[in-house]
Amino acid sequence: MITRTPDGVQTIAAHTPDADWQTQLREVIRDPVTLLDALGLPHSLLEGAYGGHRQFSVRVPRAYLNRMTPGDPDDPLLRQVLPLAQESDSVAGFVTDPLAEAEHTPHSGLIHKYAGRVLLIASAGCAINCRYCFRRHFPYEDHTPSMAQWQATLDYLRDDSSITEAILSGGDPLVSSDRRLAWLCRELADIPHLRRLRLHTRLPVVIPDRIDDALLEWLGTTRLQRVMVLHINHPREIDDAVRDACRRLRQAGVTLLNQSVLLRGINDDADTLAALSETLFEAGIQPYYLHVLDAVAGAAHFDVPDDEARALVAQLRARLSGFLLPRLVREVPGAVSKTPL
Ligand SMILES: *Cc1c(COP(=O)(O)O)cnc(C)c1O
Ligand code: SF4
Repeated sequence: MITRTPDGVQTIAAHTPDADWQTQLREVIRDPVTLLDALGLPHSLLEGAYGGHRQFSVRVPRAYLNRMTPGDPDDPLLRQVLPLAQESDSVAGFVTDPLAEAEHTPHSGLIHKYAGRVLLIASAGCAINCRYCFRRHFPYEDHTPSMAQWQATLDYLRDDSSITEAILSGGDPLVSSDRRLAWLCRELADIPHLRRLRLHTRLPVVIPDRIDDALLEWLGTTRLQRVMVLHINHPREIDDAVRDACRRLRQAGVTLLNQSVLLRGINDDADTLAALSETLFEAGIQPYYLHVLDAVAGAAHFDVPDDEARALVAQLRARLSGFLLPRLVREVPGAVSKTPL
């Protein structure tokens, strides 16, 4: 793909359409220089980038990179993945474990905070590293379950019949192999009181080829009802490949929802948020949550004040169908659910 930029003509290596998702995952961009070079952006943008990169390394799949506008340092997709100098600022109230998750882990790999549903850390990493991620300081190494820990997690679910939904999260659960996920899905389906399997994932967005036959085989056949919560913040993240992945998931009986994070400089205006809801619904995805930023150290420059967030949602309510309006929420440690603003 040849793309004209303000600096002249740049050649961008498109991801090989034939590469399977595992290859695409191995070949993600892992450093700020490669990212800038791929977009024809000046190395002056690297100033300060390495501080953030050392805290939480750059990871960008080529399929996602290809939706960015070459030469535009303010591209809303680029801004989600390029470390900035501000990440190294320490800002009062922005801490390393904003959700106090360490307190709610009965044992490694399991978070039981809300009634009826349990979150399982099914994988350590993600295909993409989002700069605002509340888990940017999360000790994943301590939470990648061994086989013995999976058994302990399954015992925990078996022993508590009030749990009706298992949520696979991470990291990104779809970074795991289909063999492992199919095994887990079978074990979960054998627990009689479980009704739903929910996956929180960004893979169908950042590497749409992840939604392949091997995945649809286990996800499409389990007795559990399946819900997938995607994470999309900007309408430009949805291209034809994402739409196609969503179509396959829906054909396999998966309900698709989306959660977004309200981000300064990326989606903090009513036009972008309205376009996001419209584009999601066209792709068969129901808007679910709009999260205000978790106060994680290194992400303060993305913060949108509560009053402004409420005003934005009021504008959206005045222009969108009710079912296109996401719920504006915050995660408050110790609360029994997400907290509406
Ligand atoms: C967000 C979250 C859930 C799911 O909450 P819903 O409101 O049902 O989407 C479950 N467990 C934990 C630990 C969570 O953080
Ligand atoms: S995909 Fe989700 S969990 Fe992974 S870095 Fe991005 S926001 Fe964090």
